Amino acid sequence: MEKTDIKSLSFPELEGLLLEMGEKPYRAGQVFGWLHQKLVTDFGQMANLPQRLRKGLEENCFLAVLETAEVKVSRIDNTCKYLFRLADGNVIESVRMQYHHGCSVCISSQAGCRMGCRFCASTLEGLERNLTASEMLEQVYRIQQQGGGRVSHIVIMGSGEPFDNYENIVRFLRLVSDERGLNISLRNITVSTCGIVPGIRRFAEEGLPVTLALSLHAPNDKVRQKLMPVAKTYPLDEVLAACREYFEKTGRRLTFEYSLVKGVNDNPGEAAALARLLKGLHGHVNLIPVNPVRERDFVRSDKRAIQEFKEILERAGIAVTIRREMGRDIQGACGQLRRSFLEKQADRSPGLGKENEGG
Ligand code: SAH
Repeated sequence: MEKTDIKSLSFPELEGLLLEMGEKPYRAGQVFGWLHQKLVTDFGQMANLPQRLRKGLEENCFLAVLETAEVKVSRIDNTCKYLFRLADGNVIESVRMQYHHGCSVCISSQAGCRMGCRFCASTLEGLERNLTASEMLEQVYRIQQQGGGRVSHIVIMGSGEPFDNYENIVRFLRLVSDERGLNISLRNITVSTCGIVPGIRRFAEEGLPVTLALSLHAPNDKVRQKLMPVAKTYPLDEVLAACREYFEKTGRRLTFEYSLVKGVNDNPGEAAALARLLKGLHGHVNLIPVNPVRERDFVRSDKRAIQEFKEILERAGIAVTIRREMGRDIQGACGQLRRSFLEKQADRSPGLGKENEGG
């Protein structure tokens, strides 16, 4: 019989499991607290449970725990990049950022990604697999335990497309915001999507007041399709209609991410078109100077072009910020650390590594 991933179970599911094992209902509160508040890594640490129950849990369940393979700390701003090893040997990355208002963790939702965005390192080798809810929780739990200090904010902006792993994302969000667990406010959580319309629509119905970030990156379908293959499936008018619906149902303001790539999506005409496109959409634009990825030939826009782009949006009454760059010295961009780790591994074990599929 396959063992149950106990850390991915909701409170009622855990109650059900314990009842099946012949335990009293109050045990669910104890076990849930050990898993999601005390963040134990072993059933043996559940000190107030009888030996019998600990043994039963060990026989029926497994505890997903991430192993820290590497940590890089930025000397510029203290941003930490973590490389975690999953139980099956896959590696994923997460980032911890310290801000005035607290500590924010950026987590991955998949190992690899199959969306194929042209400027992104996460997608170069395609999708390995979806992460489970417990593997997403663990990124937050290990960082909280190792980083010292409570994690207050989460952004699902690491590798992977959250709505390509829908059920596990929703399960993760309910668990991480559970008051019997870490109790992180859903209002402090952002989910970033490349624009999978059915995912956005369905997410609007979940009753989860998280911030939705849309990776826009272009003011029209033509340019967007050049950068993001997903734009061929979901045209901008449908994506933005779904975003509007998300705002209307949840009352949460939207974020539009726009990575500026020199000569591709950064001219003043495109800024003006973007302003027209977003008029009345209750969101703000986050301009991201594109992070150069070795395997791609994209170049970051000049400082002046970025500033001008921003001013055009501002003059049109669109709220806009230029994203502060964090951890530039430690391969802060999506998927870069994982990728260089996989390459190093391939160098060490010739024949076992993956072929380099990157362009
Ligand atoms: N799949 C989701 C979340 C992951 S990427 C999404 O597409 O939104 C998080 C953000 O970083 C996205 O806006 C993505 O387009 C952007 N991004 C990825 N690689 C980048 C790079 N090299 N430079 C700048 N932004 C990048």
